[in-house]
Amino acid sequence: MAKLCISRFSSLKPNITHEILKHSEHVGKIGCIVTQNVDNLHSKAGSKEVIELHGTAFRVMCLTCDHKICRYELQRTFQKLNPSMIATAQMIRPDGDVDVSQAQVEGFNVPACDNCGGILKPDIVFFGDNVPHDTVQNVKANIESLDALLILGTTLSTFSAYRVVLQARDAKKPIAIVNIGETRADKSVDLRIKGRCGDVLPKIWQLNASKDFIS
Ligand SMILES: [Zn+2]
Repeated sequence: MAKLCISRFSSLKPNITHEILKHSEHVGKIGCIVTQNVDNLHSKAGSKEVIELHGTAFRVMCLTCDHKICRYELQRTFQKLNPSMIATAQMIRPDGDVDVSQAQVEGFNVPACDNCGGILKPDIVFFGDNVPHDTVQNVKANIESLDALLILGTTLSTFSAYRVVLQARDAKKPIAIVNIGETRADKSVDLRIKGRCGDVLPKIWQLNASKDFIS
């Protein structure tokens, strides 16, 4: 069994939260989105300023020379090198799994980096890896230049996410959290809303819209 899921993954669509954040950026309420997700859905929704804390599944990088290529480009190379897998990939189950034979696994041709022949990996920060220094600094600069931090839909269990809270605290910015369960920062934030982002954000958005209408 294996995961052959880029085509299914890329068919995911932004939800109401992504849409509201896009509109919020458009009207100047949000300066920057920092996401832990690697699904590209904020950009797909139309948000412009997005920092992908843990990278993206839609890019691939070389472990030797750091050369980066689009995942779709790599997909075309995969298919050229492994034509027998194209039909197999059509039989993906809803959870992204697919049955492949031992012969297909052993005969699979893995492309190397075009630039140096090195090994390619998804441009994702995996468990145990560090978020690139430039990304951490970029988040810090945004926090310092903006008014407040709004945390949505995360328990902040990874340190890389929790560090954003610490950066906001250091910069003395107000912090609010919307999450259905407990989070690592519950005791140290200014506002805590328990609920699903998909339920809470539309209400905030409507409230804001009616206020704008009244004023
Ligand atoms: Zn390379």
